[in-house]
Amino acid sequence: MVIQFKDKEAEYKEWCGTHKDGYVFNRAGGPTGNVLHVVSCWHLNVPSRKGTYTTRYPKYCSNNLNDLMEIVEEISKPNSWRECTACLKNTKGLA
Ligand SMILES: [Zn+2]
Repeated sequence: MVIQFKDKEAEYKEWCGTHKDGYVFNRAGGPTGNVLHVVSCWHLNVPSRKGTYTTRYPKYCSNNLNDLMEIVEEISKPNSWRECTACLKNTKGLA
């Protein structure tokens, strides 16, 4: 299951707090803006950005990486997406 958070800061924060091993796809658009993160990534925990994480760009969250992978391609159109080099590439990586 994938949940979309747009202009839902409280719900998004709550979800991250209860899904610490989850995945967050930041749909910022453009050629470099669509990025897949793990919940604990520092990019998602910048103090100055707190409170605006879902108002600036929608987030697509899931505990199940496979579920998220099924839609990232589609929701990233007309651009592509990438894995965050700070969290995914260094820690878990994708199989
Ligand atoms: Zn990241």
